[in-house]
Amino acid sequence: MTNPVLAASPLPYGLPDFDAISDDDFEPALTEAMADQRAEVAEIIANPEPPTLANTVVALENSGQALASAARVFYGVLGPDSTPARNDIAARLAPALADHRTGILADPALFARLSAVWEARDELDLDVDEHRLVDKQYRDAVRAGAALDEQGREEMRRITTRLADLTTEFGRLILEEANDGAVHFDDATQLHGLSAGELAAAAAKAVEAGVDGYLVALELPTSQASVTELTDTQARQRVFGASLARGSRGNEFDTRALIAQIVALRARRAELLGYPDHAAYVVDEETAPSVDAVEALLSRLVDAVTPAAEAEAEALRALAGGELTAADYTFWLARHQETATDGEGAADSPFEQYCELDRVLRDGVFFAAGRLYGLTFAPRPDLRGYHPDVAVFEVFDDRGEGLGLYLADLYARSTKRGGAWMTSFVEQSREQGTKPVVVNVMNIPHPADGQPTLLSLDLLMTLFHEFGHALHGLLSDVRFVSQSGTSVPRDFVEFPSQVNEHWALHPDVVANYARHVETGEPAPAHLVEKVRATGTIEPAHATVEYLGAAIVDLGWHRLADDEIAALDPAAEGADADGSVAAVERRSLQRLGAYNPLIPPRYLGPYFNHIFAGGYSAAYYAYVWSEVLDAATREWFDANGGLRRELGQRFASTILSKGDSVEPLAAHRELIGQIAPVGPLLRRRGLA
Ligand SMILES: [Zn+2]
Repeated sequence: MTNPVLAASPLPYGLPDFDAISDDDFEPALTEAMADQRAEVAEIIANPEPPTLANTVVALENSGQALASAARVFYGVLGPDSTPARNDIAARLAPALADHRTGILADPALFARLSAVWEARDELDLDVDEHRLVDKQYRDAVRAGAALDEQGREEMRRITTRLADLTTEFGRLILEEANDGAVHFDDATQLHGLSAGELAAAAAKAVEAGVDGYLVALELPTSQASVTELTDTQARQRVFGASLARGSRGNEFDTRALIAQIVALRARRAELLGYPDHAAYVVDEETAPSVDAVEALLSRLVDAVTPAAEAEAEALRALAGGELTAADYTFWLARHQETATDGEGAADSPFEQYCELDRVLRDGVFFAAGRLYGLTFAPRPDLRGYHPDVAVFEVFDDRGEGLGLYLADLYARSTKRGGAWMTSFVEQSREQGTKPVVVNVMNIPHPADGQPTLLSLDLLMTLFHEFGHALHGLLSDVRFVSQSGTSVPRDFVEFPSQVNEHWALHPDVVANYARHVETGEPAPAHLVEKVRATGTIEPAHATVEYLGAAIVDLGWHRLADDEIAALDPAAEGADADGSVAAVERRSLQRLGAYNPLIPPRYLGPYFNHIFAGGYSAAYYAYVWSEVLDAATREWFDANGGLRRELGQRFASTILSKGDSVEPLAAHRELIGQIAPVGPLLRRRGLA
């Protein structure tokens, strides 16, 4: 009997038949699919014909589709429901999958065939997408160690497998440390400022943990939403201090020893492959031309934001009436933003009353996609997701042609990983004959029984952002699956999603969705104006903490051999040689970005993106993408904004192309010039 994960789905668009799949099916399915791909690749290698595009490159591209599809299903349900059982499966699979991939790509016989096609590439009259595919496979093989001698290849395999283990372990520790580090309060008076809902959540968390009183949970980044609300200085300091201390408390969840090992292995891999450091190894695959170019952009932004940050801190000191500490910063910043809105309270809290989730999704998110791309969305209650909370929509283009499925899994659950993301269960490919099935996952808190779900400004923006990724997947129109949708370089992938945030507060879109949840009245113009003012200009704080994290990330991945050798995970504090804190402070100081009032958005010991996720040496990608995004928003605005013709052009040059064309060239074609930095500076209030 076929494993249900591998069986062809009987459902429309190949939507996985989740009801037929149980957790016990995943590991056997992936194991079997890995063996299948090894057999497929063995056939490519054994082909007696000389290597060609079709019999080698396209054949390799088409191999392992069962594995890719099974992996999409497993990882697609793992994030939204990370049960202990699934985490165990993931921990076992990570090294096996890493070794499988390296084993295939570094195979000398396959590499000989790939090299033969790659060397002849300019004589083969290839289409652009074929040329890119040949290039990418060749580079992937080289990066897996295929061009090394046997000893080098062996070492690469060991490093890859070991890194998969260590990064999985990092992710596990961070999760447990976040739970362990939740801050305990005896009584509600210490938590003055939290909303009734937040207080109830803290009480529930205490009950769950079997303690009296309240437990304030920690969110992933350094800054904590609760800190912006707590009126008690000591309470703020306790929560903020707990946030900063994560992963470096010397307990069983301490991640500093893992960081030292991960950094050393990544540096060794880069060295084996002839790169000066891991950052160069990573950036080589990105649209940024070099690590120096990335640092030049970060440094330019640091210079631009430093005076703005000083002015901001000065204004907050005046408001606080004295000393300002890092733990107080966002509290006073929030008060400052309230004053900027005529003391009406935070502009987004009355606006929330106009942002009921279903209405925003239908009359805002879908509406904008209709105006720009001609898309329509039909609920498919007959189709089931992997959880009862998942809503399924069928997406149609402007000719009424079915384009794919959009799944929305928007409410928080105790098993759901933090944050918000988009992922694909099926990726579009003409070669495979597949249409996309994409999902947006968010963590919107469930309202109290019988109450409507109202979106804060932050959640509103996140919904539009994630939907931008969904559009990238849905509008994809490429031949090769490896070039489909969001399979673009990391420093490009956030660009379409950031562009889509632009429509959240666009006058035509707001006019269409923003109705008062009780009265049905449209949102008053002055309120919308205020929300736009607070929602579109980033405070200096946000820029400084983001840049800090990007610089810390690059710093970890540019260390010299002697600095790595001198790392001492047990050393405490930024003044102790070789300590994690000392390395990070030096990285920040080198680019003039050390600011004791505004610590980086993440510090190494809880920097999931770079030590557990795929963003090592690439956290800069968000701001790199934002340069493209800001320039594109100005292009949209200069040409009339929310217009079908502009959407069409954005779709045909960017969204439909995936990685089948050179991404930066596509962007240049769209706006008619190389993206300037000016629009980004204007947008962040730094011009
Ligand atoms: Zn994103």
